[in-house]
Amino acid sequence: MSQRTIAEKISCTGIGLHSGEPVHLTLHPARAGSGITFIRTDLSHPVEIPARHEALVSTNLATTIGRGDATISTVEHLLSALYALGIDNVQVEVDGPEIPVMDGSAAPFVYLLRTAGSFDQRSERPTLRIREALEVRDGDRHIRIEPGEGLSVDYSVDFSHPAIGRQRLEDFSLDDAAFEHGIARARTFGFLRDVEALWRAGLAKGGNLNNTVVMDDDRVLNDEGLRFPDEFVRHKVLDLIGDLALVGMPIEGRITACRAGHALHQALVQKLLDTPEAWIVEGLMAAVPD
Ligand code: ZN
Repeated sequence: MSQRTIAEKISCTGIGLHSGEPVHLTLHPARAGSGITFIRTDLSHPVEIPARHEALVSTNLATTIGRGDATISTVEHLLSALYALGIDNVQVEVDGPEIPVMDGSAAPFVYLLRTAGSFDQRSERPTLRIREALEVRDGDRHIRIEPGEGLSVDYSVDFSHPAIGRQRLEDFSLDDAAFEHGIARARTFGFLRDVEALWRAGLAKGGNLNNTVVMDDDRVLNDEGLRFPDEFVRHKVLDLIGDLALVGMPIEGRITACRAGHALHQALVQKLLDTPEAWIVEGLMAAVPD
């Protein structure tokens, strides 16, 4: 398999979930071997932040990466779309501290990437193949990765809320079509009492019913209802794929996650990177100039 980049630059504008301010996003094609790089263009000097676990700053509410004082928040939905569509190399310019939330899902980014188009580059795509199982636990939450073909996911959530309850997505095998039809449209969700607490703290100022599935104690408040009966667990899978993108290359393995979230996803990535004997990198060759 060859590395891929987008065929032409493409832009969109949306609001930041936390700031509520407009953010402009531009994706540029990038050379083979360069990976995914975010660039803050609003600072006095542009700051480049690689989409790598080493740049992880926070997993609180969203996945945030940074370098020095420059951070970019809510990178996971865009990274999920890039991973699922097999885009290895791209430069992501953003003129603020967060990626626009769009409709709270990855579907607008899939549309953007489809519109830009993509092409094979002359370098082989390295993949990280799992050889031994690894697991991270935190009380009754856990996540495990073991050998498998492609990337497959078995994810379960259990919320004591009438609109969610127990949901499980079993044997999801990632490819671009399965992602586009079953995962990309699943939106961020939150509880009204948490959202109100965030607003009081001056956070989530851009969060509203157009970009978040919001629930009171009994029901979903969005007029249009849910996009899937199990939209919540599908969004968890969306987040997981975006978080795994911080490994820096596609993974061949099978993941089982139970009640996990950004923090546990990144704890697994950390454990993976700390345990090189549990995997091998295949297809690693010197990059060929495009
Ligand atoms: Zn998310």
